[in-house]
Amino acid sequence: PFTDFDMAYFNSYAHVGIHEEMIKDRVRTETYRAAIMRHQNFIAGKVVMDVGCGTGILSIFCAQAGAKRVYAVDASEIAVQANEVVRANNLSDVVIVLHGRVEDVQIEEGVDVIISEWMGYMLLYESMLGSVITARDRWLKPGGLILPSNATLYMAPVTHNDRYRESIDFWRNVYGIDMSAMLPLAKQCAFEEPSVETIAGENVLTWPHVVKHVDCYSVTIQELQSVTTRYRFKSMMRAPLHGFAFWFDVEFNGPAISQTNRQPSALMADNQAEDGSQRKKRTNPNEALVLSTAPEDPQTHWQQTLIYFYDPIDLEQDQVIEGSATLSQSRENARFMNIRLEYASGQRSFVKECVMR
Ligand code: SAH
Repeated sequence: PFTDFDMAYFNSYAHVGIHEEMIKDRVRTETYRAAIMRHQNFIAGKVVMDVGCGTGILSIFCAQAGAKRVYAVDASEIAVQANEVVRANNLSDVVIVLHGRVEDVQIEEGVDVIISEWMGYMLLYESMLGSVITARDRWLKPGGLILPSNATLYMAPVTHNDRYRESIDFWRNVYGIDMSAMLPLAKQCAFEEPSVETIAGENVLTWPHVVKHVDCYSVTIQELQSVTTRYRFKSMMRAPLHGFAFWFDVEFNGPAISQTNRQPSALMADNQAEDGSQRKKRTNPNEALVLSTAPEDPQTHWQQTLIYFYDPIDLEQDQVIEGSATLSQSRENARFMNIRLEYASGQRSFVKECVMR
């Protein structure tokens, strides 16, 4: 069913600003283009569906890669502009813009390729992956290609003194006045909701934990309704723990490579140099093409998503912090995400629940 929430969601994509931000994100857009070009041999002469085409940019890249036909689908009014962009570039005989939800449109043939830029903040916010799954199950031919092919959501404990000083400690002394009475409100307003911001590698206290790995060839809608993971971190530093950061990456593999990715041991062995050390970077042309939003990688418009505690926990080096994280689609609005964090260190344990809206 097409709800008021869907209406609001698609309206938000009718504005130019959101498309401008995405297209100006060169890491994002150039990685997609590189992925399309890397699979040019597969795409040439084939039928493609672009799930959520926006301005049509990925559809046009696919046409440039030699696609026979591209169905560019978008439920937002932006589809009107996409259609005009396609026409102005003389691609109307290749790119067919369909203004409607991918769940509702009809096409008369199967497709060889599905491309989509569906990733939200914290990967799963917006819940658009479900629409890609619907398109896959309805139209993708056996042996077809899905770009991106897989995605991984990570979390890690972070320390962020600057942020805490700016928003919280600031109130302790304001023009010589003790405004500590503001602290509870300041904490609530600053840290109640997840916050999209950029952190540095130095903020991260130890190696990340994989919250969820998604294989786009096989993931189901049910599997995404609620994701729970248990984690155990050991801080590499003595520092105040301010909360957790989440980020993701996606890869652009063919169906076959994605299969091997399901065997992590084989992949680890492959990454292991002869002396047992990690190789710096594989130079193999078949090396996975990755779009990463990690703190140590070049910035993207996704930045990182931070979930702060109201009060920091002072960690010693090697101190363990463990617990669980649950991300679930909100019942009242499937585009929203409920987040529940349980975390314990030593004898103390805490729960933080919040909604990303
Ligand atoms: N592919 C474009 C836009 C990506 S943003 C680019 O890379 O620049 C995601 C787009 O998907 C938005 O324009 C949104 O309106 C559209 N979208 C999301 N869910 C959809 C659905 N179920 N059916 C059709 N379009 C959808």
